Amino acid sequence: MNRREFIRNGALAGAAAAVVSCGSDAGSDTAAKDAVSSELPRVTWRLATSWPKTIDLLQNAPLRLADNMRVMSGGRFTIEVDSATKTKAPLDVFDFVRGNQFQMGHSASYYWKGKDPATLPFTTMPFGLTAQEQGAWFWYGGGVDMMNKVYAKHGMYSFPGGNTGLQMGGWFRKPINSLADLQGLKMRIPGLAGEILARVGVSPTNIPPGELYTALERGVVDAVEWINPYLDLAMGLQKIAKFYYTGWHEPGAETQFLVNRAAFDELPEVYRSMLHVAMKESGFNMLCESMMRNIETWNDFPQTCPDVHVGPLPDDVLLELKRQSGIVNAEIAKESPEFAEVLEHQNQFLKTVAPWTAISEQNYLEVRA
Ligand code: CA
Repeated sequence: MNRREFIRNGALAGAAAAVVSCGSDAGSDTAAKDAVSSELPRVTWRLATSWPKTIDLLQNAPLRLADNMRVMSGGRFTIEVDSATKTKAPLDVFDFVRGNQFQMGHSASYYWKGKDPATLPFTTMPFGLTAQEQGAWFWYGGGVDMMNKVYAKHGMYSFPGGNTGLQMGGWFRKPINSLADLQGLKMRIPGLAGEILARVGVSPTNIPPGELYTALERGVVDAVEWINPYLDLAMGLQKIAKFYYTGWHEPGAETQFLVNRAAFDELPEVYRSMLHVAMKESGFNMLCESMMRNIETWNDFPQTCPDVHVGPLPDDVLLELKRQSGIVNAEIAKESPEFAEVLEHQNQFLKTVAPWTAISEQNYLEVRA
């Protein structure tokens, strides 16, 4: 997209003009470009992602961020985005950014549970907040501040990087009719959901996204949780596993931008402001794009996947998973006071938001149905 198309699309026109604030012609495309290019240094940053380049829905967020920054800075702020296809190290993004080999990263906070359990709740919590509720928590409920408190000790900032919306429960080779069917199952499922499933006999593992299809095909795992119909079908999981369960574990999975703290702090204020705007815009775009891609995929699903069974896990399985979720959270909280603080903060928010969601969205969806 060239600059004019970008402005016409309106994504950042107002924000760019406000950020570069250049007198009476602040709204003018040319004036904004001149003001930025004459006063600000040229900066080139590197950004590493956890996603193979083919996973467009996730990879689009950092690419869009880079485009936003190029446009707003009049071409002076360049962000070179390296996918995991290039770095071959999808789960090293945390260390890349901490060490400033890359000034930014795009990934998921719950991948870092082994480094710091307090990072877990910033992606999503089983039976927790929806995407809409989580957005309110991050931006108006203190969530972003809480996240940056956690990441400060690792020398990084972290910001919401785009929400996929509710995720599906995963692909299984065999049907799950009872808790007994989960016994001994090897499953790719990261974060807390993996911990919870381990309590009911599953062996969870976090295989990088680029290796999921092969792992399922070769029987390294019996089941794979990835994201949503659009991205799951693109991976081809439906060719191997014929039982697709609905979600309970990632009700609003937020990706994250990681930013090296020292690199960010030494930027001119105008660049820091641009980055804030660009991250928020590309994050919001992911939520909208995710919804649209899934709508399209789901409407074709009966034709593309006629032999796939879709439905929720049995009630007794879900009840047990919910019970175990509380137990796992309490255990991690006991070991990590900082996780306990974040969890308590988020749970308090859930208590305050649930009554409104029930009487607004939930009530309406039942009425519409
Ligand atoms: Ca997932």
